[in-house]
Amino acid sequence: MNYVSTRNNDVKVSSAYAIAHGISVEGGLYVPEGIPTLSKNDFLKLAELDYKSKAEFILKKYLTDFTDEEIKNCVNGAYTDSFDDEKPAAIAQLGDKINILELWHGPTCAFKDLALQLLPYLLTTSTKKVTDGKKTVILVATSGDTGKAALEGFKNVENTEIIVFYPSEGVSPMQKLQMDSQKGNNVHVCAIKGNFDDAQSGVKKIFTDNVIKETLAKNGMEFSSANSINWGRLVPQIIYYVSAYCDMLNKGDDLSNGFNVVVPTGNFGNILAAYYAKEMGVPVNKLICASNANRVLTDFINTGVYDRNREFYTTMSPSMDILISSNLERMLYILSDGDDKYIANIQSQLATDGKFTVNSTVLSKLQNLFYGACCDDEGTLKTIKNTFDKYGYLCDTHTAVAVNAYEQYLASTGDNRPVVIASTASPYKFAKSVLSALTNDIPNSEFDTVDALSELTHTAVPAPLAELKNATVRFKDIYDKNDMYAAVCNCLEIK
Ligand SMILES: *Cc1c(COP(=O)(O)O)cnc(C)c1O
Repeated sequence: MNYVSTRNNDVKVSSAYAIAHGISVEGGLYVPEGIPTLSKNDFLKLAELDYKSKAEFILKKYLTDFTDEEIKNCVNGAYTDSFDDEKPAAIAQLGDKINILELWHGPTCAFKDLALQLLPYLLTTSTKKVTDGKKTVILVATSGDTGKAALEGFKNVENTEIIVFYPSEGVSPMQKLQMDSQKGNNVHVCAIKGNFDDAQSGVKKIFTDNVIKETLAKNGMEFSSANSINWGRLVPQIIYYVSAYCDMLNKGDDLSNGFNVVVPTGNFGNILAAYYAKEMGVPVNKLICASNANRVLTDFINTGVYDRNREFYTTMSPSMDILISSNLERMLYILSDGDDKYIANIQSQLATDGKFTVNSTVLSKLQNLFYGACCDDEGTLKTIKNTFDKYGYLCDTHTAVAVNAYEQYLASTGDNRPVVIASTASPYKFAKSVLSALTNDIPNSEFDTVDALSELTHTAVPAPLAELKNATVRFKDIYDKNDMYAAVCNCLEIK
């Protein structure tokens, strides 16, 4: 299986190359040339296997330049002992039809662990194949969860350094503490004055700057990315949609008309993985794309106009506070039947005008696959309360946006097939917001809030968050958004 760049079909590389480099030289994203399909029998067999064996099976279809043994080692490294009960993707059922796919039982309590526990293994295996022993420098722009999950995944991984940039005012106190207290001898954390899009644009700029690249090469280093623009981030996410389908088969759910999937969306990585699972043969009907007040994707799905020239809101679901949704590029590439010139053109419009409009063919395909809905903070709080009152189930702010979008979908279409709602974070990562949905009595300190939430809802605080109470802050630097390259040089001790 080869990978092509969304902006130049002549660029054809192996999966190891795509993972080691993250992004193509002209700025395009790597996509697999085709999507492997599984038979009914394959799924029945998979349904009998544990998560790790499922992961091996799926990865072999996409990483054809890896040996079976390499894949096995990667999977074992990632998914042994790092998730509660070795169940990285458990389902909680609400009522008859609603399956909450809990993707936050890993070390950082957000769904990004599913990919970022695996990525360092995929990456180090890849760099051994395609680069000559250079040290890999991972640059990450984060709206909160990616940063911590990447730091946990890469900490103390040999021959790597990781530098994480986050918007100083754009993450929750728990997320900030998680990152600022990160342990490990190769980790660097920098807050910037700006929002997530500033951090992401800054990282992209550093990545594609040839002078910077040469400076790094002179120092025996090379950049790579742990953001979801890296294929190595996306491919692990396909596994849990297959796993959810298998679990539903095993429960005996009526899937004769398939099921819907709802994903709280920011950079479009998670929902794109659900699309890949659908194309592989998982009977997904509609992909419901849930946004918060930063409703750029809802508007895009409804109108075909992508317009980032709008007010940016800092919401209580910060991991979705995004106006440039990077992985959408991959989806549009697929929907335009691999038209690289078309994609290069609309991406350049996005870069210069902050805006593009897709043609009617692409729009109708998009609307066939996706339904877009959004809700603001007020809707988020109401949904947390209603879901807790109705089912005794406590969800975080991001998951609540998804539940709210699902309710809108149900009300407007009446389509009540079974549904899988991706639950992307533990409610304790956003304890203050979640508690404020249930009571007006909010303690001052973050950890008192966590305890109050636990007492009120009779739910357990995940151990990795409880342990933060005694953590020491290691990183305190705040950089101007225009000084990100200087920050990189500082961290790496190069000039
Ligand atoms: C990253 C994140 C999202 C958004 O996922 P994308 O793949 O960027 O669309 C949603 N919820 C949480 C909690 C996240 O950390």
